Amino acid sequence: MTCKTCGERQEKLVKLFGKTIKVNIICSCREKELEEKNQRLKIIKKNSLMEKSFYNKTFENWDFEKGDTKLYNLGIKYIDNFKEIKEEGLGLLITGAVGNGKSYLSFAIALLKKGVPVVCISINGLLERIKETYSTLGKEGEWEIIKLLGNADLLVIDDLVTEQNTEWSISKIYTIIDSRYRNKLPTVVTTNYPVGILKDRYGERTVDRLIEMSTIVESKGISIRKINALENKENLKRFLSSKITESYRYL
Ligand SMILES: [Zn+2]
Repeated sequence: MTCKTCGERQEKLVKLFGKTIKVNIICSCREKELEEKNQRLKIIKKNSLMEKSFYNKTFENWDFEKGDTKLYNLGIKYIDNFKEIKEEGLGLLITGAVGNGKSYLSFAIALLKKGVPVVCISINGLLERIKETYSTLGKEGEWEIIKLLGNADLLVIDDLVTEQNTEWSISKIYTIIDSRYRNKLPTVVTTNYPVGILKDRYGERTVDRLIEMSTIVESKGISIRKINALENKENLKRFLSSKITESYRYL
């Protein structure tokens, strides 16, 4: 059998243990194709899950007139304790009204340290990236992205619920949350909507996992209220009240 494109052989006969068998060989165009695919996978790994717009959103640049001071304190605590936070897989679910610094906070957290594998992306950007891979890489690309999202030391998903409400997006979001949950790695999610809305949209299965691995921070412009912190995991609760929630003293 020969390749229809380059005319090179795609099979050859080899002798093995005294028998002659047929094995597949890679022709030059197939080799080129594989190499290109490999390059695209590398590009996905390196760039496409990072949005450049968040690079200047650091705690140093925090605007205290616009951004909530309590969110700032919470973020600083989160970063300072990240080593333990990562070990315990403690995430944040930051909910509340538009325009009080939730996104900025999540970006600043994502910039915590050079060399820590962090993925920080809006939910729309994330789903777009998955879709893009369908045309370039097929299932393999999706698998690669899910693996990347599942294994990052920290995953920040900004603006949940702003994506199109489709069965497809809901199933992708479940897969991502579930893989973070299984790997026991921290996830920071921001959304303008309360938990009840999240449950209606994504179902209990997804939202229960998200809640179990997160401290819920409800941000209401000038006040933050901690409404739920892993009630079924006493040690984590204690950890959270001693470390992160110190910032609530400033209320
Ligand atoms: Zn060929």
